[in-house]
Amino acid sequence: MRNLVRETNLTAHDFILPLFISEKIDKRRAIASMPGVSQLSVKEAVDEAERAHDLGLQAVLLFGIPKEKDEQASGAYADDGIVQEALRAIKKKCPAVVTITDVCLCEYMSHGHCGVTRMDGKHFHVLNDETVDLLVKTALSHARAGADMIAPSDMMDGRIGAIREALDANGCDQTGIMSYAAKFASVFYGPFRDAAESPPQFGDRRSYQMDYSNADEALREVALDIDEGADIVMIKPALPYIDILWRVRERFGRPTAVYHVSGEYAMVKAGAEKGLFDERAAVLEIMTCLKRAGADMIVTYWARELAEWIKG
Ligand SMILES: [Zn+2]
Repeated sequence: MRNLVRETNLTAHDFILPLFISEKIDKRRAIASMPGVSQLSVKEAVDEAERAHDLGLQAVLLFGIPKEKDEQASGAYADDGIVQEALRAIKKKCPAVVTITDVCLCEYMSHGHCGVTRMDGKHFHVLNDETVDLLVKTALSHARAGADMIAPSDMMDGRIGAIREALDANGCDQTGIMSYAAKFASVFYGPFRDAAESPPQFGDRRSYQMDYSNADEALREVALDIDEGADIVMIKPALPYIDILWRVRERFGRPTAVYHVSGEYAMVKAGAEKGLFDERAAVLEIMTCLKRAGADMIVTYWARELAEWIKG
């Protein structure tokens, strides 16, 4: 009877699997703060994408870790950059997998901020427009290498419109944009910075990420990104921001994604390891609740396991 009346059911198509691809390794390297998650070589990323597809998942989200970083984040938009190489390799081996690429500069900047910075005495500023120019270059370079969807995660103003315009003007009008529209400055990103090797070397990201005290502001940010041409809007992190997710889905009715982030992942892992609850039951509950709250798709490090659990 419960099955007959259940309102929310998970399918493998709900999940997007993040992959960390490193130019510095030829063998997978476990990420200590995220049990079960590894940095991968390009070849391993192709295998993972193929495996994900065999399990019924349809999309991967690619993050790159370059060999070298500099003040212009040149690895982000290099034609032979790590994400570009991975895109070509994945598309060659399994063209059916939807490839979404994280577009940001922090992994490629020597200082680890998401944009071009300038120091004024002791204070640093992230320069919005200079940063947007580099993000546009990066997005175009990803699209040309085979990205189906560009996912800008930087939170600079005006970047969605600028990227949309550049994609359209360069024959990439079929490439979609998944915007990290409401990305909050959160303590739960900690383990990710290990994974992507991108902690800021000075200051923090509160000048460009959102204050977790604000909800109406999130709706304004989402409205701007939709106006500028975002096809999918994303809320990040997930569980502590479930009210934002709900309001965005209700207000705009657009395809809405949520990113269940590294710290949220690590919390559940730690709890399960301590025997406080069952990992599988906890994850299924969390994912179902996120979908119930309006998520059309969920970025999660459990995507593979979920695909298996749902089948079984
Ligand atoms: Zn960033």
